[in-house]
Amino acid sequence: MLDALPVTHVTGIGQSKAKILQYLGIFTVDQLLHDWPVRYEDWSVQPLGAQEYSSPITVKAVVEGQVAVHWQGQKSQLRVPLRVDQRHLVTGIWFNQPYLKSKLTDGRVVVLHGRYDPKFHTLTVGHTEFSVGKHDNEWVAVYHVAEGLTSLQLSKFIAAALQQFGDQLPERLPRSLMEKYRLVSHRQAVIWMHQPDHAVALHQAHRRLAFEEFLLFQLQLQGYRLERRRVPTGLSRNIPPQAWSRFVAGLPAPLTGAQVKVCNDIAKDLERSEAMYRLLQGDVGSGKTWVALWACYASVAAGYQTVLMAPTEILADQHLREARQLLCPLGVEVAELVGGMGGRQRRQVLEGLANGQIHMLVATHAVLTEDVTFSRLGLVIADEQHRFGVLQRSVLRNKGDRTDVLLMSATPIPRSLSLAIYGDMDMSILDEMPPGRLGMRTVQLPLREEEKAIRAVRRELSRGHQAYVVAPLVEDSETFPDVNSAIQLGERLTQEFAGYQLEVLHGRMSSKSKEGVMRRFVSGQTQVLVSTTVIEVGIHVPDATVMLIYHAERFGLAQLHQLRGRVGRGMAAGLCILLSAAKGEMARARLRTMVDTQDGFVIAERDLSLRGPGEFLGIRQSGLPEFTVGDLTKDLRVMEVARQEAWQLLMNAEFWLMPEYQSLREAVLVGEKRQWPN
Ligand code: ADP
Ligand code: MG
Repeated sequence: MLDALPVTHVTGIGQSKAKILQYLGIFTVDQLLHDWPVRYEDWSVQPLGAQEYSSPITVKAVVEGQVAVHWQGQKSQLRVPLRVDQRHLVTGIWFNQPYLKSKLTDGRVVVLHGRYDPKFHTLTVGHTEFSVGKHDNEWVAVYHVAEGLTSLQLSKFIAAALQQFGDQLPERLPRSLMEKYRLVSHRQAVIWMHQPDHAVALHQAHRRLAFEEFLLFQLQLQGYRLERRRVPTGLSRNIPPQAWSRFVAGLPAPLTGAQVKVCNDIAKDLERSEAMYRLLQGDVGSGKTWVALWACYASVAAGYQTVLMAPTEILADQHLREARQLLCPLGVEVAELVGGMGGRQRRQVLEGLANGQIHMLVATHAVLTEDVTFSRLGLVIADEQHRFGVLQRSVLRNKGDRTDVLLMSATPIPRSLSLAIYGDMDMSILDEMPPGRLGMRTVQLPLREEEKAIRAVRRELSRGHQAYVVAPLVEDSETFPDVNSAIQLGERLTQEFAGYQLEVLHGRMSSKSKEGVMRRFVSGQTQVLVSTTVIEVGIHVPDATVMLIYHAERFGLAQLHQLRGRVGRGMAAGLCILLSAAKGEMARARLRTMVDTQDGFVIAERDLSLRGPGEFLGIRQSGLPEFTVGDLTKDLRVMEVARQEAWQLLMNAEFWLMPEYQSLREAVLVGEKRQWPN
C-alpha cells in the first residue's frame, strides 16, 4: 500500500531529501504522488521579444560560437552566443553551472527557459533542456518547496515515483460512474496533474479529482441524512387543525408569502415520522422570528416542549418579549434561561421544565448544562446558528428523545457553499421582505467628505432617531496609521454630537460591559453607538435609522450587508453611509455593489467570488471541509452533481452494496473517522 511506503523507496530520494520532504508534510509515496502543484507555468516555446522582461520565457536556440567562463571567487558565469528563432543573436547567461560548458558546444540545439532582457539582448537561463525532442510538456508544474529542494527536483522525484509506483494507485470510483460522467482514471488524473501535456489534460484531471473529493464528502453528509431518515427518528406529531388559524389571528400583520410557505414546510416536517433537520436562511429583517414562533406553537400545541436558543442575552430577551406577546394569549407558558440568573429563579425554571409546566424556553448557552432536563422536549431552534457549534446543537438535541431541529441564519450563503456545508439538511429560504418598510438607502462617500456624512447623522439625531458608527479597529494602530479606530472615533465624535449620549462598544470589553452598552442603546438611553463589528446580528432597534461605516473598503461585502441590516428596521427609512478611502476603481466598483442591490444572496455570491470561501466564511464556519483539488467558488456544478449522485447511491442499496463500490465505501469510512472524530 502506497500510504505505508516511505518516500525513500523512490529512486533518487535519500535520507537528506526525505528530511526536507517530511518538513513539507510528505512522508509516504502516496503523499508524494498527491502533493499537488501550486500553479503551472506555460513553457511552450515562444518567439522572442513578445514578453515583458519580468515574465520568463521558453525558447529554442542554437549555440553559435564558443563559451566564455568568468570566475569571481567561487562564483561563475557562462556567457554563450546563441541564435534564437533564426533571426536573433542573443547572449545566454548561466550562473554557477560551469559544468555546462562542455555540453554547450557549437551548433547544439537547446530549449531554454529564462528571462530575456531586450535592452542588452541577454537571456538569463534558469533551466536548460538538452534533449530537444523530449520537450513536449508545455505546462510545467510548480510546487511548494523548502530550502534545499527545488520545484524541479521535486517534480523529478514525483516523475520517478509515478514510474515506479504509478500503477499501484488505487481506483476508488467504479467503472460505471467513470463512464457515466466521462471521468479519467485516478491514475491518469494524478499523472496529468503533475505532467499536463496540454490545458485540456489539466482540466480533465482537475474535474476527475474534484468529483472524487466532493463525492466522498457528500457520501458522508448524505449518509447522516439518510440515517436520520431510516431510523424511526421523528415524533410524527398531530398538530391540532385550529392551531394555524389561531396563530395567524394573533399576529399584528399578515405573514408574507415566503413566511407562509416556510411555516408549511415546518408543519409537514413536524408531522412526518422522520426527525426534522432544517436550515432556514433569510436576510436580516425577513421575519424569521415569527416563523420560529409558529414552529414553537405548533410543537407545543401537539404536546411537546420547545427551546429557542439565542447566542446572547440581549437577543434572548428580545425573543422572550416577542414570544410572550404572541404566544401567551394562546396559552403557551414561556420562560427564559440565561447565565446571569439567580439561584432561586433558575431552580424554578429547571423545575418547570422538568415537570412540563413550562412549554417554551428562550435560552442562551446556559441551557446546555447537564442539570437542565425536560419532560418532553420535541423541538430545538437555534437562532444565528453559526454562533453555535455542531456539538452544542447535538447536546441540546439529546436532551429530548427524537428531537426536531431548526437552524436559522441571517447570513446568506451562496448555494455552492450551502451544499458543501449543509448538504445534509433540508433548506428553506425567506426571500421576501415584510411590506410597509420604507426600506433603506446606501450611499458611498470618499473619506475626505466625512463632514457631509456627520451632518446627515446629526440630522437624524435631531429627529429623535439613533445612529450606529462602525470602525474597523478597536484602537489606533501603528500598523494602520490612517485607519480610524472605535476608541478614537468615540472621543472625536463625542464633540461632533455634543448634546447626545454616545457610547463605545468593542470586542475587548468584558461581555458584561458589552451587554450594558447594548442595553442602554436598545432602550434609547444612548443615541449614538460607536463600535467595531461586534453589534449583535439580530438586534432590533426601531429608532436606529442611520449607520455610518468608516473604511468600508476594509470589510467584506457580506459583512457590510449584515451590518447595514440593523438600520431601517422601524417605520422610518434607513440610511447607510459607506465612507471609503479606497483609491482604485476595483475597490470603488466593489462597494458600488452595496449601493446597487439589497439582495443578500447576490452580495454573497459576489463576495465569495472576490474573496474565496475561506475568507468569506471567516472563522465563523469552522465546519468547512478542506478540499485539496475541488474549488468551491469554481466547481459548483461538480458539487451539485456529486451531491445528487451520493444521494442516489445511498438510496439504492442494491447498487451501493455491490462489490464495485467496495473501495468507495471503505474510503467513506476512513474519511468519516478523520473528519468527524466524535
Ligand atoms: P430576522 O429575520 O432578521 O430575524 P425579525 O424576525 O426580527 O427578522 O423581523 C424583523 C421585523 O419585522 C420584526 O419587527 C417583526 O416583528 C417584523 N415582521 C416580521 N414578519 C412580518 C410581516 N409579515 N409583516 C410585518 N412585519 C413583520
Ligand atoms: Mg433574527
